[in-house]
Amino acid sequence: MSRRRQIYEGKAKILYEGPEPGTLIQYFKDDATAFNAQKKGTIAGKGVLNNRISEHIFTLLGTIGIPHHFIRRLNMREQLIRQVEIVPIEVVVRNVAAGTLSKRLIIEYYYKDDALGDPLIADEHIACFGWASQEEMNDMADMAVRINDFLAGLFAGIGIRLVDFKLEFGRIWENDFSRVILADEISPDGCRLWDMTTNEKLDKDRFRRDLGGEAEAYQEVARRLGLMPEGEANSVLDLEKHRKKRGK
Ligand code: 5GP
Repeated sequence: MSRRRQIYEGKAKILYEGPEPGTLIQYFKDDATAFNAQKKGTIAGKGVLNNRISEHIFTLLGTIGIPHHFIRRLNMREQLIRQVEIVPIEVVVRNVAAGTLSKRLIIEYYYKDDALGDPLIADEHIACFGWASQEEMNDMADMAVRINDFLAGLFAGIGIRLVDFKLEFGRIWENDFSRVILADEISPDGCRLWDMTTNEKLDKDRFRRDLGGEAEAYQEVARRLGLMPEGEANSVLDLEKHRKKRGK
């Protein structure tokens, strides 16, 4: 059997060559990292859950006209995606802030560079270093706002507050023209998701802050999105147990 070619390995995913030109296979690992990979571990089943959650969210975003890289899910841990040239900018949207800061939605940009620790950057840095054009910046900001509106509503409907999240975009080329489309993944790895009633964290902060119950939290998000198999639909989230274990 011929081994397929690995294109890239990141902290949570591996990219392999796809079956056709212009496609890649995105493989979701259980590996979890935090604080610029200073903290490393695994969350059992995370890759399977993130593959499903991200598929679900990208598919829904497609229905409201957000262009994205997702083509189809191939199996438990893999999805077929369009090959893009990743824009080296992490777009972070924040919904929860206090005081005068909360009067408007906050969009921040970080330069995607592990060696530099993903520093916060200003529009001027982006223009100056040529990481994205002004038109691409406008398109990414427009999409980020629309994605936020849609996802905040989607999660509110299942009792979850979308506190903040990170997006990545990629360039695709059509003849001599390029445009940016949504890439990477949207999952509890890159979103802060709080239960609306208990404020319990249902995201990677459980791992970052050693709260325990990270696998259960990811499962709970998948369950509320309707992605867990029948039979498990009535299982209740037992994060209380982890709080007690920490003695709080
Ligand atoms: P913060 O800047 O507060 O650490 O992160 C803001 C939001 O963006 C959080 O939901 C966080 O999960 C996400 N985020 C920021 N940077 C990264 C990153 O490098 N990887 C992942 N997975 N998420 C990130």
